[in-house]
Amino acid sequence: MNGRILIVDDVATNRIVYRARLAAACYEPMLAATGAECLTMARSERPDLILLDLNLPDISGTDVLRELRATPQTRDIRVIVLTAAQDSQSRLAAFSAGADDVVAKPASEPMLLARVRNLLRGMADAEYATATRLPEIGFAEPATGFEGPATIGLIASRAEDAQRWRQDLQGQSRDRVVTLSRSEALAELKPGALKNVPDVFIIHDAVSGSGGLRLLSELKSHGSTRHSAVCLVGRLQPDDTSAIAFDLGADDVVDPDISGRELALRVHSMLRRKRQGDRQRASVHDNLRLAMIDPLTGLHNRRYAMPGLARIAAEAKREGSAFAVMIVDLDKFKLVNDCFGHSAGDQVLVQVANRLTTNLRLTDLLARIGGEEFLAVLPRTPLPEARQVAERLCEAIEEIPIRLPSGQMLTVTVSIGVAVSNPNTTELETVDALVEQADLALLESKTSGRNQVTFRQSAA
Ligand code: GH3
Ligand code: MG
Ligand code: MG
Repeated sequence: MNGRILIVDDVATNRIVYRARLAAACYEPMLAATGAECLTMARSERPDLILLDLNLPDISGTDVLRELRATPQTRDIRVIVLTAAQDSQSRLAAFSAGADDVVAKPASEPMLLARVRNLLRGMADAEYATATRLPEIGFAEPATGFEGPATIGLIASRAEDAQRWRQDLQGQSRDRVVTLSRSEALAELKPGALKNVPDVFIIHDAVSGSGGLRLLSELKSHGSTRHSAVCLVGRLQPDDTSAIAFDLGADDVVDPDISGRELALRVHSMLRRKRQGDRQRASVHDNLRLAMIDPLTGLHNRRYAMPGLARIAAEAKREGSAFAVMIVDLDKFKLVNDCFGHSAGDQVLVQVANRLTTNLRLTDLLARIGGEEFLAVLPRTPLPEARQVAERLCEAIEEIPIRLPSGQMLTVTVSIGVAVSNPNTTELETVDALVEQADLALLESKTSGRNQVTFRQSAA
């Protein structure tokens, strides 16, 4: 659980009150009384969230915030600014300096805790992404490059509201703002609508039909819109209602009288967190891909192939069909390296992988399981078809010489061992046994002169 919260306030009683409230809600509070102390602790303790008073004796809260955002170790820490000032100027300054949220003091407890939960929920995703980033084996940080304009979807029950928000937002950024009806917003949930999903939805709480809260929870629970930020606009009374909105997944809840400038800044802040989450998810996705793919040939690696093979075997058993397991090994490949160099050898591996791919079906599984050894698993393939395919593979490799990086042309051959499962057997045929049969068949191809195919039909 991530719940280490740094409370920064120069007034001792405030620190004590917040500490008690947060500890009662099972967070782990830490205290700082000055801006300098806040910066030191943020760097050394790496809290998950900072509750930052704007009015500090040494450095102003906005300057503290700017410094946090400018420092790599503290850049992504969530910050809620607490301000006693009634003027909107200081709220806007706090957002401009990088606040994730700004709350007026004295803050109502349920509302403050709901806002804390909201920001920490986003951090939980970030933590997962960091944990799966595996930096120790050289996986990259998510890229932060250029990001195009965002799409913001407005859903209001009255056209005037939508019109006003649109003007407010368009004047402040280059984002695309679209007005949607409730049913148009829900249409984003349909498969195929994916590419138009807004990055941020702004919903009036009194949207006709079943209301903004309902729409919010629909958007937040559906796969295609789950990662969009949602801002609810409404005078939600009592305070518990905004807490419910946050717990249903709202990223912000704002008053209808909010100024255009503040709405734009809040949208910007939500968008920043949303994009951070997008980048982290993309990096998790890339890392998972790297863990399954052989970088030289782009084929699946052994680690991915084995569960894939088990899946095909289970499906074949269910439908009573035969499947074929082939092991393809380059002949005298060591000689290629020895005579032409390692990079020529690599080039041969890439070309052979390409030829195997183009001669198999999309539904077949192909993996590089050893240095110059490939595994192909062909679902719904009885022995006669397996024979045709394996012979075609042998020919496809031998037929056309491979162009080496030096320009030289080289003919290479492969030996193949094939084992075909027996769909009629009542015995439990293990996947390992089939691979072993294919291995023995391969050995036979090698000892009988290479560049040929040997078969094993599994015993009934
Ligand atoms: P056989 O016909 O009996 O299979 O002989 P072989 O030379 O192909 O088999 P052996 O197992 O003796 O040698 C395999 C060679 O494959 C040795 C190794 O250097 C080379 N090799 C393994 N992985 C790679 C790679 O990623 N790139 C290159 N260039 N060579 C590799
Ligand atoms: Mg070999
Ligand atoms: Mg080998």
